[in-house]
Amino acid sequence: AAKQQGRNHYRFYTNELTQAASDRLELGSQLRAALQSDDELQIWYQPQVDQDSGNMVGAEALLRWQHPQEGLIHPGRFIPVAEDNGLMPDMDHWVLTHVCQQLAQWQQEGQPPFVVAVNITQPTFIAGGLVDRLQELLARYRIDPTWLELEITEGALLEPTPQVLNTIEGLKALGISLAVDDFGTGYSSLAYLQRFRVDKLKIDRRFVSSVEEEEEGRVITSTIINMARGLGLAVLAEGVETEGQRAYLREQGCTICQGFLFSRPLPLDAFSDWLKY
Ligand code: C2E
Ligand code: MG
Ligand code: MG
Ligand code: MG
Repeated sequence: AAKQQGRNHYRFYTNELTQAASDRLELGSQLRAALQSDDELQIWYQPQVDQDSGNMVGAEALLRWQHPQEGLIHPGRFIPVAEDNGLMPDMDHWVLTHVCQQLAQWQQEGQPPFVVAVNITQPTFIAGGLVDRLQELLARYRIDPTWLELEITEGALLEPTPQVLNTIEGLKALGISLAVDDFGTGYSSLAYLQRFRVDKLKIDRRFVSSVEEEEEGRVITSTIINMARGLGLAVLAEGVETEGQRAYLREQGCTICQGFLFSRPLPLDAFSDWLKY
């Protein structure tokens, strides 16, 4: 009986795997199609607020997929699909193009300046062509480049290949700033901070979320803030959810925050309303 149960178990498991695999394949081809049109993918914006002035100083662009059958799909589900299907560079370029279009509109409307941060994955960052593409977008939409910031994770900066150096130099030359996302959770080789000119560190939310309960979280968070200050870099805290976290960050000198305490990521219409206040 045990053997039979084991076998049933096994069969159930393989069926599930097959199901997951075909789900990914199907979503993969649907995502490829979605990237060819403007119908299903949406960019949501999460405000970044300066605690000192209370002003919104920036927003992170976060991709959402309004799937016709499945409803709203978050990046946690479709990014692995994009990775499996080699779609990450196309996806990153889709987001860049649409953010630039939107920036042009805000600038034409006379919106006071703020920075929009776009996540760029490692393959896109090191593949080459990113700088040319951005130069073309800035020219096409006549955007002030200081409104644009790229977020990359530490992994992309680890290998100091000529390609990576050229890309960073090229972005600087265009006037686009660079933020290190999820700072402190990657390989954490601090050598690249000495080597590459990044502009901002984003303290990962796992540290921020622990500052009220854990001494370690406080030490890591305050150390990152002090290091940023010493290096002349801007610093932003991600995932700020409570007043206690906000107060600690402020006391330590990190005034720019992003998190549910201030606002969740918002669809364009709601974010536009937010901009008016
Ligand atoms: P990330 O770049 O670190 O983005 C921050 C994530 O934290 C977002 O999740 C955001 O909704 C979430 N978040 C913000 N504030 C809070 C908070 O107070 N509490 C909690 N628990 N979460 C908070 P989201 O939008 O699901 O995105 C997840 C990840 O997917 C992003 O992490 C980023 O790595 C990736 N991603 C999202 N949009 C894009 C995109 O357009 N391009 C690329 N390449 N990656 C993207
Ligand atoms: Mg989410
Ligand atoms: Mg990010
Ligand atoms: Mg992050």
